[in-house]
Amino acid sequence: MAGIVVKPRARIFHGHEWVYASDIQKIFGKPEPGGVVSLKDFKDRPLGSGIYNPVSQIAVRRFSRHREELSHEFFVRRLKRAWGRREKMAGLDPQLCRVVWSESDGLPGVVLDRYGPHFVLQTLTLAMDQRREMIAAAVVEAFGAETVTERNESPIRIAEGLELRTGMLHGEAPAPFRVQVPGGTFLIDTMAGQKTGIYLDQLDNYRDAGARASGKRVLDCFCNQGGFAIACALGGATEVTAVDVSEPALAAARANAEAAGVADRVKFVCANVFDYLKEQEVAGSQWDYIILDPPSFTRNRKSVSDALRGYKEIHLRALKMLPSGGLLSTYCCSHHVSSGDFRGVVLEAAVDAKKTLCLLATHSQRMDHPVIPSIPETEYLRGYTCELLAAF
Ligand code: SAH
Repeated sequence: MAGIVVKPRARIFHGHEWVYASDIQKIFGKPEPGGVVSLKDFKDRPLGSGIYNPVSQIAVRRFSRHREELSHEFFVRRLKRAWGRREKMAGLDPQLCRVVWSESDGLPGVVLDRYGPHFVLQTLTLAMDQRREMIAAAVVEAFGAETVTERNESPIRIAEGLELRTGMLHGEAPAPFRVQVPGGTFLIDTMAGQKTGIYLDQLDNYRDAGARASGKRVLDCFCNQGGFAIACALGGATEVTAVDVSEPALAAARANAEAAGVADRVKFVCANVFDYLKEQEVAGSQWDYIILDPPSFTRNRKSVSDALRGYKEIHLRALKMLPSGGLLSTYCCSHHVSSGDFRGVVLEAAVDAKKTLCLLATHSQRMDHPVIPSIPETEYLRGYTCELLAAF
């Protein structure tokens, strides 16, 4: 088997599973792009098996500490193992969850979401992309899937030299269907939704927001399909305003609010949140509870400082519109922005707004997106709920 000798002190010796191109000491044999390579340390000791992509900065991603091939049997085994972990997660509905979260489940670049009998697959690495049919067949064998939809539109694929693609890997495209979650009902369109269905990572946080919303006027910024807005309306908010720039997302959100029976209490606004918050601030508007769940403003480390400026602006404006005792729930879904940076931005905005925040809760991605602390990239969603204190 072709292989790679890894330089001393590479991050693979510190718990990570990646070998950067700059960590390669020597290549032996002729590794195929997308093929399996065996990894060795500089003393010729075996380190396991990885997938190889010479085009990517991340040249090798280890998927096993043993000598292993990527076979149908391997994928079935890994899928069942991932499923076994989800089944044991208290409070998680394993019929409606992320079944595979990439490196956290020993399948680098594979993301698999389950909506009952319907599965949505992303293959974000070259090796997994080449084997997507094999993975889909394994999903059918492991779970009796009725359909497997491929949603490979993530821009992350470009770094791996992969084109963007959507289609069916198994079965006919399912007609849009509804799923029930605590705090809402959502229409899933595996082929046409803005993403692979809904934000499974936020489901627990919708419920948390709903439980805080009783009697409050709520503003949900970047509402997408209305997860927070609907949970708050169901939780007894007196009125909810939900803002997003995307008409298709708002159309889905309206339909979801209708199905949840709260359409009369949620006002949907199509606007750029930056402009909307500015206008509302000038108009002197106030809300009791503001939720900020923006998209990742950065896809790489270079643009983090621009992203932080964007985060700060929306926080500053939001805080100016909260009265004493008002609540702010804020999320950041970019793993390039560290928790320290994110917290720093929220605090800076509070200082500039001359307000004091009290931290009520911290939030993270749901447990079906497991975090492996030695692979920091597995963690990307952070959130805080704060109360704005009256001045002492
Ligand atoms: N809160 C949502 C997820 C938000 S995803 C949920 O839990 O379901 C980010 C959303 O922000 C997308 O729907 C996108 O359309 C929207 N968006 C991106 N930039 C925006 C902007 N400048 N103003 C308003 N909406 C924006």
